[in-house]
Amino acid sequence: MGLIVQKFGGSSVANADRVNNVASIVTDTYKAGNDVVVVVSAQGDTTDDLLKKAQEINPGASKREMDMLLAAGEQISIALLAMAIEKVGCPVVSLLGWQAGFNTNSNHSTARIKNIKTDRVKTAIDKHQIVVVAGFQGINRYDDITTLGRGGSDTSAVALAAALHADRCQIFTDVEGVFTADPRKVKNAKKLTEITYDEMLELATLGAQVLNNRSVEMGKKYNVEIEVLSSLKRVSGTIVKEVANMEKMLVRGVTKDTNVARISIIDLPDTPGIAFRIFSMLAAKNINVDIILQSVGREGSKDIAFTVSKDCEEEALAIIKGIAELQGKKVISDDEIAKVSVVGAGMETHPGAAAMMFEALYEQNINIQMISTSEIKISVLIDKNEADKAVTAIHDKFIPNA
Ligand code: ASP
Ligand code: MG
Repeated sequence: MGLIVQKFGGSSVANADRVNNVASIVTDTYKAGNDVVVVVSAQGDTTDDLLKKAQEINPGASKREMDMLLAAGEQISIALLAMAIEKVGCPVVSLLGWQAGFNTNSNHSTARIKNIKTDRVKTAIDKHQIVVVAGFQGINRYDDITTLGRGGSDTSAVALAAALHADRCQIFTDVEGVFTADPRKVKNAKKLTEITYDEMLELATLGAQVLNNRSVEMGKKYNVEIEVLSSLKRVSGTIVKEVANMEKMLVRGVTKDTNVARISIIDLPDTPGIAFRIFSMLAAKNINVDIILQSVGREGSKDIAFTVSKDCEEEALAIIKGIAELQGKKVISDDEIAKVSVVGAGMETHPGAAAMMFEALYEQNINIQMISTSEIKISVLIDKNEADKAVTAIHDKFIPNA
């Protein structure tokens, strides 16, 4: 028994059946003797549909009005869910972001939560009401509605759990938890029982779309244990936390990212200042560079290659071609590549993970084009067509079939 925050994503409340299903999960938790605060997203594709409506009328609409519009999606879900809970016969109250005390800054469409004044939510809990709160939204100091950015309801839930000192924050979604690889692609992928915040952040940025990044950062900052689990199957999910009782695993997950382009600049003068010139020009245009490789200088010249996301490829190329010192140099770009990565906090203290990964690739005769490492991650750049084969081979090397 305790205070539990439960968050349900758009797919979990997509239609009447799903809303009734959520109501039964919530009321079962309540009837077991817990205080329950629920955070919900807009139903199904509602947010996308609202975006389309705005596009039809004014593609250049102000962010203030966009927030006013998009926040409506969550207003619908909280009311419908509260009605479904009423029907089961449990006391309930629905609250919009501002009513639940979510104060944000004024960055419309990507607002940050400044604080949560929990008085109203706490009063409702004291009255033994189930509290249903609209995710993704808040209010700024001018009393204007703000939204937290796409997928922001996860952050609303974790922030509210932190502010209420909840015993648990459960994020219900349409998958059963966090897997060691994409279960649709890798036959032996298994559900993790636990994962650290840092590992989850690496997996999230590498494309495992289960939890919104900011919610994981928030969980880490305020030490909120987050459980990711399915709203459709009642089985335990994956717990995201700092450390403690972690099962012994060298590698927690293998991911693939095909949104990568590599740009190489050949035969640069091997003199100081060239790398600075290139990367400061890219940074000035807010282009995020991932892996960087510089060849050993020979006969006064060297090559530099780096990767950016595919969406930035054209812009990065234009910037490079505009740099005076690089005039006449050969610039090659390639987006038929993929980044395959292994993530695991266990690698920090165990040497040999890189060798294992490279062995798996060698056994499949896959050539590595670039390598980068951090304390808990190793990434390689390979041919895009070999990415799925590589993920399976690496996965099965580190995480043998249990
Ligand atoms: N409804 C918002 C979105 O689709 C917020 C969320 O789902 O978390 O981005
Ligand atoms: Mg959504």
